[in-house]
Amino acid sequence: MQKIFLHNTLTKKKEEFKPIKEGEVGIYSCGPTVYNFVHIGNLRSYIFADTLHRVLAYNGYKVKHVMNITDVDDKTIRDSQAAGISLKDFTDKYTASFFEDLEKININKDEYIFPRATENIQGMVALIKKLLDKGFAYKAEDGSIYFAISKFKDYGKLSGVDFERDSKSRVDNDEYAKEEAHDFALWKAWDEKDGDVFWETELGKGRPGWHIECSVMSSANLGETFDIHTGGIDLIFPHHENEIAQSEAANDKKFVNYWLHNEMLMVDSQKMSKSLNNVYTLQDIINKGFNPMAFRYLCLQTHYKQKQNFTWEALKFAANTIESLVDILVIAKDQSKGKPKGSILKDYQEKFLEKINEDLNLSGALSIIFELLETESAGLISIPDMLETIFDFDKVLGLQIKEFVEKKSMVPEEAKKDAEERKRAKETNNYSKSDELRTKIQKQGVKIIDVQNNNYILSSSTAVFYNPNNDARK
Ligand code: AMP
Ligand code: ZN
Repeated sequence: MQKIFLHNTLTKKKEEFKPIKEGEVGIYSCGPTVYNFVHIGNLRSYIFADTLHRVLAYNGYKVKHVMNITDVDDKTIRDSQAAGISLKDFTDKYTASFFEDLEKININKDEYIFPRATENIQGMVALIKKLLDKGFAYKAEDGSIYFAISKFKDYGKLSGVDFERDSKSRVDNDEYAKEEAHDFALWKAWDEKDGDVFWETELGKGRPGWHIECSVMSSANLGETFDIHTGGIDLIFPHHENEIAQSEAANDKKFVNYWLHNEMLMVDSQKMSKSLNNVYTLQDIINKGFNPMAFRYLCLQTHYKQKQNFTWEALKFAANTIESLVDILVIAKDQSKGKPKGSILKDYQEKFLEKINEDLNLSGALSIIFELLETESAGLISIPDMLETIFDFDKVLGLQIKEFVEKKSMVPEEAKKDAEERKRAKETNNYSKSDELRTKIQKQGVKIIDVQNNNYILSSSTAVFYNPNNDARK
């Protein structure tokens, strides 16, 4: 197996990836809190996690990937009540919409496990009990249970936070129910605001805190120590720091070997987030005439550890780039009609692996595709081999290139007949008829490219990645 290097937030270094179990990898990615439609910033995070998944699978690993659905927390309770519907009906709606978005950006739901917080309450109760028994947790007067940060000596190892040193944040916090300002809730005792959302458990009547949900759903599926945990950098503190504290205090074992965090998708230099009210959803993009794959392509162009500024111009540019790539491949495929299927070019595959295994350098990986196009046009490699190699790379990129090439190769029967008639017209030097037929073919949304001996190539001329005529609002 090739070496894979990943930047680990825990050690702040790029490290060679070494799995716990030979040939297998367990990944946990923080998923959505289902109180609203996910926005494209969230999708950047899921596309990053999906690409990591694909890179490991391409390298031959058996990947077990878990992504949680947070379907109970302050926000889901607050907003379901405001909407006047049950928590379950409310979160089901946004969970379904999240799954639809995943499908649209070509994240294969069947390759993931999606545990829901509300289905894992018993595991949370058990972990909290363990923390109480071991003296890492305490019950406050209202019945809520808190994690005592001062008891966990490694607190801060992921984010570098140090409450003694950073005493300012201590003053900012006004939650006096806790012994220490930064202790966080493991279990929230029921109060009126929670309405009918509660579980009667050995810990009392209440509901879990957000952080404990991820500690439990990850380990329930991947074990007490697992390989990789992902999320956006906004989750490093406190969420992931707290996950480490809970899990390591309870289990006396290292929780996660590699922590990977994606940078934020920005709008006008600010993080795209619901609270700043500057979000776009995938539907907004589709409504403007973009195919979701244009967004996936846009994400691949920027390294996951860099901030990415979202603009419509950049999205159009990404759409145009992938459109031209597909157009070139449609022509190439037509030219190689009848030739035997190609095979994957091993030296290019090596180069591709070198890029993706270097902490997911996907823009570098994309450049290998363009290199293949150039090498083919210089006649140094065959079209079938080029196509086969690009389709193989797409297992990692997830851009559905083959499907788009096939789709754009399909033209109406009438245009095909017209093209045959035009060929005959050209053979008999009837140029006015040939011109007339060219116009007729073009009017059917078909591009006709002349090649030697009065032959031709037909392809759909309709842009599929960005087409303002598809603007759903028009
Ligand atoms: P949330 O539903 O807010 O917990 O976010 C779900 C995932 O999306 C987390 O991994 C976040 O870190 C990530 N995320 C949230 N906002 C952005 C953004 N603007 N850019 C990239 N990732 C984000
Ligand atoms: Zn989480």
